[in-house]
This record gives sequence, structure tokens and C-alpha cells, in this order.
Amino acid sequence: STPAAITSGLAAAARRGALIKGGAALERLGKIQHIAFDKTGTLTAGKPQVTTIEVNGELSENDLLALAAAVELGSSHPLAQAIVREAQNRNLELPDTTAHRALAGIGVEATINGETLLLSAPGKLANTVLDAAWQQRITQLEAEGQTVVALLQQGQLLGVLALRDTLRSDAKTAVAALHNLGVQSVMLTGDNPRAAAAIAQELGMDYRASLLPADKVSAVNELNARAPLAMVGDGINDAPAMKAATIGIAMGSGTDVALETADAALTHNRLTELANMIGLARATHNNIR
Ligand code: ADP
Ligand code: MG
Repeated sequence: STPAAITSGLAAAARRGALIKGGAALERLGKIQHIAFDKTGTLTAGKPQVTTIEVNGELSENDLLALAAAVELGSSHPLAQAIVREAQNRNLELPDTTAHRALAGIGVEATINGETLLLSAPGKLANTVLDAAWQQRITQLEAEGQTVVALLQQGQLLGVLALRDTLRSDAKTAVAALHNLGVQSVMLTGDNPRAAAAIAQELGMDYRASLLPADKVSAVNELNARAPLAMVGDGINDAPAMKAATIGIAMGSGTDVALETADAALTHNRLTELANMIGLARATHNNIR
């Protein structure tokens, strides 16, 4: 291809929502042999809904939800927004909170009436062991592909909430199209292994679960050392992993920082453009050689 043909190819791709930021990014994209995906906000729409509220003890469901929403106030995490939205939909009054603290990849903490409330992935509770009946119930909800969060007050379980996110409608087609190009897909997620397995199986891809943001970087470094890897994410807990990959690709719905720093972006959030991007990059590369 002539430089002019490459430029017009890039422009056409950009109009379809496949933005590749220049020749160097295009060249690296042409070498990609596998691709890692963040789950929440990337393979899924990132708009989870609260489906289940179960209390441990005297609280009502609405009381539990109001406490959870108060702890989540101010967090930009998609799970936090879903919990706050559900409390608003039910017109619940939220108790006053102080000392909010985000625990990246784990959950969030706040103080209510001098007591510490922790909302956390049940698998990441450091100092609390849940009893067998609760473990079993949580396992069941997670095996359905749901994300469960547990609310604890001074280490005592108040109850759990389960949230379900929907897959992007083109996720399965996109993974299949990449497979046809010989590009293998793997999901990297901070979510629990059971929910990850349910979703990965539906999409026909591998997965690694329970990853903290730093674990996502290690996973990317390890995979990238085997063969050039692309990392697709939305910038929430995955921006460093996107940077560590041979090429980072941001979702259009992602954070501003992700969109600015990534080498490429899916500006219309269409995952099927990934195979088209790689196809274009390979064709350009072959023509130049
Ligand atoms: P993902 O890799 O799916 O984008 P994250 O790394 O953002 O997930 O979070 C991993 C897990 O940590 C979540 O599935 C959830 O269990 C827990 N978590 C993180 N932040 C929060 C929060 N603000 N509220 C509740 N749970 C959270
Ligand atoms: Mg994410």
C-alpha cells in the first residue's frame, strides 16, 4: 500500500468506530497473536442491576440496600452506581457516612455512627469467615454469572446483594471472528471465578479471575512475553494493564484517561471491529513488506 492508501484505510476504519492512532500502532496491531479483555464495561455493558438482596438477621431488604448505597456513595465503580441507583429507585433515605475508602479490586469501606461498614467481594474478606449456608448461597448466585457483594458491620455479616451485568450483544461474534483470524481471547477480571467461568464459557474464551489491578498487569506481562498481546479495557482498574500490553485498546465508553493513553479505541463500543482492525493491520503490513 502507498502511504495515501494506508491513511485512507485508517480513516475508513475510524468512521466505523475503529480508531487506530497512527502507523506505529497499526504495525504493532498487525503482530497481535492473542487478546486480553477486561470483563466489566468491556465484554459486558458495565450497567449491572441489583437482582437479589438477602439479609442476615433483623434488617429489612431496604435497610440493607440503604446502608450499602450509603457506603458506595461517591464511588464511580459500576457496582456502586448500580447499588445507589437501586436505592434511589426505591426512594430510600441514606444514613450519613464518613471516611469513605475505596479498596481497589476488593470493595469499599465507610463509617456510619462510628462503626465501620465494609462492602466487599465475599471471596476477598480478609478477617471474616462466612458460615457454610451463606457460602453455599453465594456460590449458587455466582455460578449464575452474578457478582455478589457482602456487607459487614464491624466484621459481622449484615447481608448480601447480587448484581447481574449483560454481555455486549456482539461479544460472542467478536470472539469468534478473532478466533477465525487465529487470535485467542482471554478474559482478565477482578470478579469471582464462578461468575467469570459462566461468562467465559458463554463466549467461548479462557479466563483469569479474582485479579487485583496489579495482578492484571502481571497477567498481561506474562502473556505478552509469550506472544504480542492486545489488551482491551475501559480504564476502570485496567489502565496499567492496557499500558503493559503490546497494544492497548480503549472502549469508547471508557474513562477519558484510557481513551487518551490507549494506542487504539473502539469509539462505537463495537467489539466486532477488533477483528477488522487486526485484518486491516495485517493487510497493510503484508503490502509494505
Ligand atoms: P472487573 O475486573 O470486573 O472490572 P474490578 O477489578 O473493578 O472488576 O472489581 C473486582 C471485584 O471487586 C468486583 O467484582 C467486586 O466484587 C469488588 N469491588 C470492587 N469495587 C467495588 C465497589 N465499589 N463496590 C462493591 N464491590 C466492589
Ligand atoms: Mg473494568
